[in-house]
Amino acid sequence: MTTKSLKVFAPATVANLSCGFDVLGCCLDTVGDEMVIALTQDPNVTITKIEGADLPLETHKNVAGVAVEALLRQYDQNIGATIEIYKKIKAGSGIGSSAASSAGAVWAVNYLLGRPFTKQQLVSFAMEGEKLASGNAHADNVAPALFGGFTLVRSYHPLDIIKLNTPKDIVMTIIHPQIEVKTSDSRSVIKNKISLQKAIQQWGNVGGFVAGLCTNDYQLIGRSLEDVIIEPLRSILIPEFEKVKNIALEKGALGCGISGSGPSIFALSKGLQVAKNVAEGIDHVYKKTGLEFDIHVSKINTEGVKIIL
Ligand code: ADP
Repeated sequence: MTTKSLKVFAPATVANLSCGFDVLGCCLDTVGDEMVIALTQDPNVTITKIEGADLPLETHKNVAGVAVEALLRQYDQNIGATIEIYKKIKAGSGIGSSAASSAGAVWAVNYLLGRPFTKQQLVSFAMEGEKLASGNAHADNVAPALFGGFTLVRSYHPLDIIKLNTPKDIVMTIIHPQIEVKTSDSRSVIKNKISLQKAIQQWGNVGGFVAGLCTNDYQLIGRSLEDVIIEPLRSILIPEFEKVKNIALEKGALGCGISGSGPSIFALSKGLQVAKNVAEGIDHVYKKTGLEFDIHVSKINTEGVKIIL
C-alpha cells in the first residue's frame, strides 16, 4: 500500500569540467527528468513506470532501484518504495542520465522519510547507482545533482563533497550529438598512468578553477578550463570536437570541453547572450555533419533535485 508520494525534477549535470576528472561537476537548470516516488508498507522497491527511454524495469538493473535499495537498507525500517521515471535525458548522453535517476530517487525517498540522511550520505547511496551504470562508483554527477551548483569531490575515501560558489553570470551551453558513447567505453580509452608534468598542469588548473569560482573571477575560470590528460584521448570519439571548441571560444565562451564521458560538449560563458551566441556557432558547425543533435542553454541550478507540482 502506498503512503505518501512526491514528484521531483532530477537535473542533468556536467561532470569533470575539463580539468576535474571524477572530482568536479555542476548542475543544470533547464535539462532534467521527472520522477514520481512513493513510500510503501510493502518493503520492496519497484520501478512501476518508465517513459521516454528503453531502460530496465527490474529494480536491480535500474540505477534508481539500486540507489533506493542502498538507502532503505541503511534505514532498516521495513519500508519500500515505488518509482516512476519520466526520462528526458538520454542514457549515454554524457550529461548524467543515470545520475539524475539515482539522485532524484534517493532525494525523494529521503524527503518522504523526514530527511534522516545528509546530502553527503545521499551521494553515497546514489553512487551505488553509478556503479551499476558504469562499473565505477563515481560521484562527479550525483554530487552536483544533489547539492546543486558546482561541487568538488575533495576525497572519495572518506567521501568529502564541497559545494562551491556559483558566479551569478555563468551560463552553460551544451551540445548533445545523438550518438551513444557508454561511460564504460570511454573509460577504456583512458590510460592508468600519467606523467608528473601533466599532473602538475592539471592540479594547477583544478586549483585555479576552484579559486575562480570562489572569487567570481571569470577570466581565471576560463584559463583553468584546460584538460591535458583526458580530453586528448577522449575527444577523438566525438565528431567535430575541435571545430566545436574553436567556434565556442571564437564566440566568446570562457572555455569548452567534453561533458562527462561525452559525447556531449559543454561551454561555459559569462552572460546569457554570449551563451546563446556560442549555441548559434555550434549549431552552424554541427548542421554540416548530418548528425542529429540537441543544443541546450542553461543557467546553473544551485538547488539540485527539487519538488515540482
Ligand atoms: P550518462 O553519462 O548519461 O549518465 P551512462 O552511460 O553513465 O550515461 O549511464 C547509462 C547506463 O545506465 C545505460 O547503460 C543505462 O541502460 C543504465 N541505466 C540503468 N538505469 C538507468 C536509469 N534509470 N537512467 C539512465 N540510465 C540507466
